[in-house]
Amino acid sequence: MVNKHAQVVLEARQVSMSFNTGTASEVAVFQGVSFDLHEGENLAIVGPSGCGKSTLFTIIAGLLQPTSGAIYVDVERISGARGHVGYMLQKDLLLPWRSALDNVALGLEVRGVRPEQARERAMALIKSYGLAGFEKARPNALSGGMRQRVAFMRTLALDPKAILLDEPFSALDFQTRLVLQGDVRRIIRDRNKSAILVTHDIAEAVAMADRVLVLSHRPGTVKAICDIDLGAAEDDPIALRRSSRFNDHFDATWNDLDIQVSSTV
Ligand code: ADP
Ligand code: MG
Repeated sequence: MVNKHAQVVLEARQVSMSFNTGTASEVAVFQGVSFDLHEGENLAIVGPSGCGKSTLFTIIAGLLQPTSGAIYVDVERISGARGHVGYMLQKDLLLPWRSALDNVALGLEVRGVRPEQARERAMALIKSYGLAGFEKARPNALSGGMRQRVAFMRTLALDPKAILLDEPFSALDFQTRLVLQGDVRRIIRDRNKSAILVTHDIAEAVAMADRVLVLSHRPGTVKAICDIDLGAAEDDPIALRRSSRFNDHFDATWNDLDIQVSSTV
């Protein structure tokens, strides 16, 4: 559930994006996208492939200028990469020659935190979130799920205003994905973090988020924003998915998304 009285940390106001592809017509990716992200809120954005979810994140991260509209962080209009947000992608982008610990510490070191201090903070995260004993392992010795845990901790270590998660679990097997969805949701809640999760997986969105924003096919527009209330939300991902509240929310979001299956896929 969203605390509607919580402070707005990030606001997208009428954001539109078109790409000039060199042909006569511009490609409109999405149009007039507006939403608020409150402090401590986990907002999921679901939409079909190609509706501009990753492009929207690039704009929120300040790496790309929208064609029109604006992004505000703490009511300040942002432009250019300003380090307000932490970004985690489907691909973990860990440095293969660094240990898990040194990968978590990397962003802190880049920011100028002394290496010993950076490692101390990284170690605290590793211990809290189930990777103790693996801190010295290189990424190629870790499972896919563990690597995504390391990537998530690296994002968390920087303590950003908002965490952006772009399909972070889609390359993982189903069981690992369930466990990581539960853990990441719990960590975001426990630390009162604000996060935006982009996914094409409705179940993932409903299981993890306080609200789900549904984007239409390209050019993406906001079709609906649904509050998710799972009641005494189970931390057990299996029990959660079996609950009737989960299934009701799943059905409602599915209807909003209006999924069409084409025989020519
Ligand atoms: P999603 O993440 O929802 O699958 P993307 O944001 O990756 O969608 O892409 C949305 C659309 O924008 C795609 O059709 C893609 O081809 C187009 N696109 C993305 N970046 C560029 C670019 N730099 N130039 C031209 N078209 C682009
Ligand atoms: Mg994408």
